[in-house]
This record gives sequence, structure tokens and C-alpha cells, in this order.
Amino acid sequence: MYEEDDFIQLSALQHFLFCERQCALAYIEQTWEENLFTAEGKIMHDKAHEEQFEKRPGIRIERALPLRSKELGLNGKADVVEFHRTPDGKGWFPFPVEYKRGKPKLDDCDKVQLCAQAMCLEEMLDVSIPSGAIFYGRTRRRLDVIFDDALRNETKETAERLHEFIKQGKTPKPVYSKKCKSCSLMEVCIPRTFELNRPVANYIHRMIDVEDSDKRLET
Ligand code: SF4
Repeated sequence: MYEEDDFIQLSALQHFLFCERQCALAYIEQTWEENLFTAEGKIMHDKAHEEQFEKRPGIRIERALPLRSKELGLNGKADVVEFHRTPDGKGWFPFPVEYKRGKPKLDDCDKVQLCAQAMCLEEMLDVSIPSGAIFYGRTRRRLDVIFDDALRNETKETAERLHEFIKQGKTPKPVYSKKCKSCSLMEVCIPRTFELNRPVANYIHRMIDVEDSDKRLET
């Protein structure tokens, strides 16, 4: 169990799994938060628009619901929590929905973030939440997510690694990859800096070679 002072923002989980450097820039250095959250603000705006299509009979929608979990040491807000009427019509059960502007990813980072939201709600409301959904803006489709043991374990383990990572307080060096193209921190991270140094180093070596051969010609 974590103390409140040790809580980390739930959204850091997704960034941590996407790229540890991105997570460190935003949540350790905090220098680039504005960039990151500007991008996230746009997602929220898109989401609010989509919500007009999400209202259905038998569903109550709560937006920006505060979340917290002592077990995971995380807090934050849920984009949308739908409360679905139970089959007997006597109650409601929560169904978290996360809105993303892109498309489903190959890794589990979005699912882990949603699962963490569900685990927060379970702890807060003392209920069991078997599933939720992620709405992707690019495909305009919902992806149903089952919160099975494997995903719950992955979420818990990721939260533990995230706490350790934030405690260490070290920002990893950039490693350029395909995902950098969709990274909101690309301009501040400058992931190709080290690659760009290589031609510079080659240039310097070439200049040294030329100077050496000039000296040999003079003697
Ligand atoms: S630009 Fe690439 S290396 Fe840099 S933070 Fe983003 S994903 Fe990570």
C-alpha cells in the first residue's frame, strides 16, 4: 500500500510503457508538461465531441471522475465512466471508457491504463469490474477490453516499476524508433541528436586526415 504523498498520476503508466524517456521528461523533469498536456487536451476535446454519440438508454455517463488507488499508488481522472443498469434494474455497474485519438497499438499501454482505472474504481467503490472499452478516434471504433488476471498482473507490475523509475529520477537517453514520429515530445526530446553527431564526428576525422596529409606534403 502506498501513502498519498507517493501517488503518481495514472496517465504516467501509458507514457512509461510507450517510452521511458517520454515518461521521465514529463513526470520527472516536469519541464515539458505543457507540451504533453497540450496534446492531451486536444484528445479530451475530441472525446467530448464523440460523447454526443455515446448516450444510450440505461446508461449514465460521468466525465472526469477522480480516481485513486492505494494499492497501485496512482491517482488521476477517468475520461468517461459509464454506469450501466444492472439486468434486474435495481442498480448500476461502472464501465470505464478511455478515448484515444489514434488507432489500437501493438503493445498493451492503452489497455494497462484502462485496467488501472478499473482497479481504482474497484478499490473506491468496492465493486468488481470485468471489462471496459477504448474508443479510437482514427478507426472510430470501440475496442472492448477484458480485465483478466494477466492484464491485472501486468498493470500492477507496471505500476511498481513506474514507482521505482520515478524514485530513481534518471532520464534515459533517447533511442530513435518509429514511435518517435507520433510522440508529442519529439521536438524537445530531439531523439536523433546522437545519430546526427555521427556525421559531425566523421567530418572532424576527415579534417584531421587532410591536415595530416598537408603537413606531410610541406615537409
Ligand atoms: S521522441 Fe522518441 S525517444 Fe524521445 S521521448 Fe518521444 S518516443 Fe521517446
